[in-house]
Amino acid sequence: MKVAIVGAGISGAVIARLLAEQGIKSVVFDKRDHIAGNCHSERDEQTQVMLHVYGPHIFHTDDQEVWEFVNQYSEFMPYTNRVKAVYNGAVYSLPVNLHTINQFFRQTLSPAEAKAFIEQLADKTITDPQNFEEQAISMIGKDLYEAFFKGYTLKQWGCHPTELPASILKRLPVRFNYNDNYFNHKYQGMPKEGYTEMVAAILNHPNITVKLSSAFEQAMASEFDHVFYSGPLDGYFNYSEGRLGYRTLDFEQFSAKGDYQGTAVMNYCEETVPWTRITEHKYFSPWESHENTVCYKEYSRLCGEEDTPYYPVRLVKEKSLLNKYLDMAQSLESITFVGRLGTYRYLDMDVTIREAIDVARHFLHCQSAGETMPVFNVDPR
Ligand SMILES: Cc1cc2nc3c(=O)[nH]c(=O)nc-3n(C[C@H](O)[C@H](O)[C@H](O)COP(=O)(O)OP(=O)(O)OC[C@H]3O[C@@H](n4cnc5c(N)ncnc54)[C@H](O)[C@@H]3O)c2cc1C
Repeated sequence: MKVAIVGAGISGAVIARLLAEQGIKSVVFDKRDHIAGNCHSERDEQTQVMLHVYGPHIFHTDDQEVWEFVNQYSEFMPYTNRVKAVYNGAVYSLPVNLHTINQFFRQTLSPAEAKAFIEQLADKTITDPQNFEEQAISMIGKDLYEAFFKGYTLKQWGCHPTELPASILKRLPVRFNYNDNYFNHKYQGMPKEGYTEMVAAILNHPNITVKLSSAFEQAMASEFDHVFYSGPLDGYFNYSEGRLGYRTLDFEQFSAKGDYQGTAVMNYCEETVPWTRITEHKYFSPWESHENTVCYKEYSRLCGEEDTPYYPVRLVKEKSLLNKYLDMAQSLESITFVGRLGTYRYLDMDVTIREAIDVARHFLHCQSAGETMPVFNVDPR
């Protein structure tokens, strides 16, 4: 059996590994000259700081099996993501927590007092929020919304929060204690030698052949019994119906002596500051020590044809185009679209790995039961 896997990111690597362990050989293609996809990390030559080349990646999950899976291929070091935010000449802690509230309103409220205070700020005249802005104001009031959500969202998504769906904010985006751990998951950590080394270990199996700087084209599919495709869905069809909208990021890299900002992530919430955040990469490896430092100043904009797609936009226009591509894909055989680009969804790494494990298992089941492997293992709609 000849299997092609398009993309040497974590989707492709996990599928290749699980098939390889069951004796199925695969060729993994990637058009880039490195493995690990958008999780790629490499050391900066001058400072030796481990860089998250396509933006910072923090591993966090509640999925026990996924956590055990990644720990087979890398030693994970403890890491807790803490995010700071600059607004109006002061530095605050995110997600908005009791410290943020007390600092912002110059108060010394207890958790119960803060809860009552926020309830009183929430705009109760908005009973049926129609968009992100209304939803936020109905939950936390205008001041906190304008300080920590409005400008950042505008810069990140390139549109006014009134154009974004209310569903983005499902729960109250505020904590009434001093917990500033950005994630709520049971497991959180960083691979000691970076994600690329972890993905290299996943791909390191005699049944896996990796071909870098090799773009896979639709015409090549007939050479294989099955294709797992983690490239862009619209790209597979040569963008015949138009391009699915993505946001891309520009990173302005700079080095400094010693420390630059003293923390890993500093968000800039004001609309007047053109960048969204500055990340200082040595703080993503807190067990290492480095004399000097490397930072990325991050800017968000609409993805052009030559840019790297980062975040799927998924507004109304994109959804109707997505449906066209999904119909086209459903008419194909012997191919399964996987991963963040193949299914046009934002997926954290742990979800990507969970889905890749499920895809590989389903494929192995189909092989032994003589069933047809679906084009999508998870409905991307
Ligand atoms: C800015 C940013 C920050 C993130 N931070 C986090 C985080 O902190 N924590 C977290 O859990 N997740 C994070 N993620 C999500 C994480 O990046 C994804 O979960 C992960 O990259 C998905 O892996 P993938 O293999 O599906 O896709 P990718 O990593 O995109 O891999 C797809 C690969 O396919 C290749 N390819 C595409 N087309 C072709 C073709 N025609 N031929 C050959 N190769 C092709 C590409 O070159 C790429 O290497 C972040 C994502 C972004 C955008």
